[in-house]
Amino acid sequence: MTYARAYIGLGSNLDEPLAQVRQAINELGKLSLTRFERASSLYASRPVGPQDQPDFVNAVAAIDTALSPLALLDQLQALEQRHRRRRLRHWGPRTLDLDLLLFNDQHIDHPRLVVPHPHLYERAFALIPLAELDAPLTLFDHSLDHWIERLEDQGLARLDENGSN
Ligand code: ATP
Ligand code: CA
Ligand code: CA
Repeated sequence: MTYARAYIGLGSNLDEPLAQVRQAINELGKLSLTRFERASSLYASRPVGPQDQPDFVNAVAAIDTALSPLALLDQLQALEQRHRRRRLRHWGPRTLDLDLLLFNDQHIDHPRLVVPHPHLYERAFALIPLAELDAPLTLFDHSLDHWIERLEDQGLARLDENGSN
């Protein structure tokens, strides 16, 4: 069986975000045809878009999977549903958001799935945990550091094991 390396961005800002993200990392390891590799530290970040909502807890996980990219997306969306995610408004608060950031070095442009994730290069809460997991990765022909150096301050803070910064 051929496995691909996938990186999943996790985010939550509702209903005990720390617990949501920790549990979701655990659940990623139970997906079919998938091996959990490792997860980054947890981070706190200010929300993208509407600011009248709680801060997010974010992390990135590395998995090796024999699922196709779309089958993996289906699994990620099912997992979001199990966390009772409701789509209240675009970029609004949510119990769990799972984005497929990278799938090997594939470029995918499908109505349901764009990879690399189109906002990855400009989001501290995705780039910095990703660099923690795999510093030598490249994105659009540049190092992760290249993109990280260009970030505006986005109020990202690494959390310790107790979830405080
Ligand atoms: P953003 O994509 O800017 O982070 P979001 O995570 O809030 O926004 P969602 O409402 O979670 O957006 O997802 C909207 C749709 O995006 C999903 O239904 C999914 O089909 C599509 N999508 C496209 N590319 C990806 C990807 N790489 N990972 C996850 N979903 C994706
Ligand atoms: Ca997202
Ligand atoms: Ca999403």
